[in-house]
Amino acid sequence: MALHGAQARAQRRRVRLQVGLLLLAACAPPAGPEPAIELRGSSMGTTYSIVLASLPKGLAADTLHAEIRGILEAANDQMSTYRASSELSRFNASSSTDWFRVSEGTRTVVAEALRIGRLSGGAFDVTVGPVVDLWGFGAAGPSAVAPTRERIDAALREIGYASLHVRPSPPAIRKERPELRVDLSGIAKGFAVDRIARHLEGAGVRNFLVELGGELRAHGSSPRGDPWRVAIEKPSPQGTTIQQVIRLENRALATSGDYRRYRVVNGARYSHIIDPRTGSPISHALASVSVVDASAMRADALATALMVLGPAEGLRVAERDGLAVLFLVKRGERFAEVSTPEFERYRLE
Ligand code: AMP
Ligand code: MG
Repeated sequence: MALHGAQARAQRRRVRLQVGLLLLAACAPPAGPEPAIELRGSSMGTTYSIVLASLPKGLAADTLHAEIRGILEAANDQMSTYRASSELSRFNASSSTDWFRVSEGTRTVVAEALRIGRLSGGAFDVTVGPVVDLWGFGAAGPSAVAPTRERIDAALREIGYASLHVRPSPPAIRKERPELRVDLSGIAKGFAVDRIARHLEGAGVRNFLVELGGELRAHGSSPRGDPWRVAIEKPSPQGTTIQQVIRLENRALATSGDYRRYRVVNGARYSHIIDPRTGSPISHALASVSVVDASAMRADALATALMVLGPAEGLRVAERDGLAVLFLVKRGERFAEVSTPEFERYRLE
């Protein structure tokens, strides 16, 4: 959904490594476990890994995988901005300001995106696309120079989630201004993770871990019979060393960070996460934000929102709303951990 070319391949490789570690943490050699089944592939511009600790009798892994592919395809058909025929691409291309009928999935994601937009005081804004493009992170690809203040101000005048509306029935979205467009990259992966988990539960699978581009959800128990353990990485561009291992039961974990996707222009390093209030890439000491929540969609959007807000404001919002969050803050060569009380219960002692 968001990545292209060499950068995307490099990221996929790193994500795979990360998943390797994660599984290492999740499935360390136990005494007499059931063999885990892993379903892997690529979708939404990234990779996925689904680990099934056990399968109900009569259910074939291949059948399940085909069904999961179907769910991912449907999410791309709804929300990919890299697929010209997707619902969202057609909405973006349209200059109509009337209601535009969408699927239940797109409606759900846009409604939640607007809610997180309000909750974060505009730090999370799914209409920020034109500014993301200006900084060279959009579909148009990288640019050699940083944009001028005039161009940023012009792009800022085009955006604003307050001009985007959603209605439940029949499901539809509407823009007040013809040029407004929507990019759900900061929330759609979490939505897909939730949908896959719901499907697995419906099929009678009880013990599983779903991961898509670093957003994940764990249900039931791991192959060794205890709760799943997942690793939160140290935020470094090359490495995949573990900062913290947490225990997840029927919960989602989403992480947002600027340590993987960034661009260097004239020696300056630019994050792919843009602060819609200034029009510039975020530039604070926050290296990553991890959020645990009952919903992967919510955790995904919150992680991006808190990443924009930064360590001080982000912590204030997390505490205000009782969110389970771990902030990793750069302190020279090291990372300081700042977390909310709600996060503490997931830590492995
Ligand atoms: P994530 O990896 O979930 O943190 O999402 C990052 C992606 O969200 C970026 O690649 C952009 O496409 C998009 N994005 C960047 N800044 C924002 C923002 N302030 N609000 C919402 N989405 C954003
Ligand atoms: Mg996100």
